[in-house]
Amino acid sequence: MDAPDKTTAAFLVRLVDYGESDRIVTLFTRDYGKISALARGARKSRRRFGGALEPFCLLEVTLASHARGLWRLGETTLVAAYPGLASSLARLGAAARILELAREVVPEHEPDPAMFELLEQALPALSRADEPHVAATAAAASLRVLALAGFELRFTDCSVCGAPVPKGARVRFDPWRGGVVCTPCGGGPIGLAAAAVRGLLALLALPLSRVSEAGVDAPRVAQIEEAIDAFVRHHLGKPLRSSRFRAS
Ligand SMILES: [Zn+2]
Repeated sequence: MDAPDKTTAAFLVRLVDYGESDRIVTLFTRDYGKISALARGARKSRRRFGGALEPFCLLEVTLASHARGLWRLGETTLVAAYPGLASSLARLGAAARILELAREVVPEHEPDPAMFELLEQALPALSRADEPHVAATAAAASLRVLALAGFELRFTDCSVCGAPVPKGARVRFDPWRGGVVCTPCGGGPIGLAAAAVRGLLALLALPLSRVSEAGVDAPRVAQIEEAIDAFVRHHLGKPLRSSRFRAS
């Protein structure tokens, strides 16, 4: 007997065409983690799911299990849209990177309510961020996504020997070791000004909606982004596809 339908909150994190008229959607759901579902007719008609099958929105989806274990997407409703994302390429690109990063680091079929809640905070925070603060908001969100996935990057002590990073010094970040590495332990390929590390810690101390208050300037944010990107490239074995948005 078929299992009863299930309803859960979800973010759409990937959409691929399937045959003439269907699509396979990857959803990050609050209750069932990352799952794939067949969206019948979604390719033929955007209206098939009430026009709600859109990325960068909080959705409520109904899922019916399919004979071979693939979910079938049923009724889909839009719960929250974040209109600020569509009005700025920087905000949209940042949201795309955060969703892609979350999609890449969460395992399938494992509920992760903390990660879901983080995305529920990150998308509105990015949607409302002033252009100069988009990158800092995205960097803070990326670091939190990584930390929840078990990759807490280390910036205050050496990732090898644990010695505290000397105050006022420029530090070296090593993406392979996931943090800063002191000179006796061999340093790392990416230089971070001490001010960038201080800025990063200030970013992490604030809720995502308030990272602008940390006052981290663009060159410092760029160094932090470089370290995060290098770690992600190393860890995933590839850059995020949506990182191409950043240059725009
Ligand atoms: Zn060391």
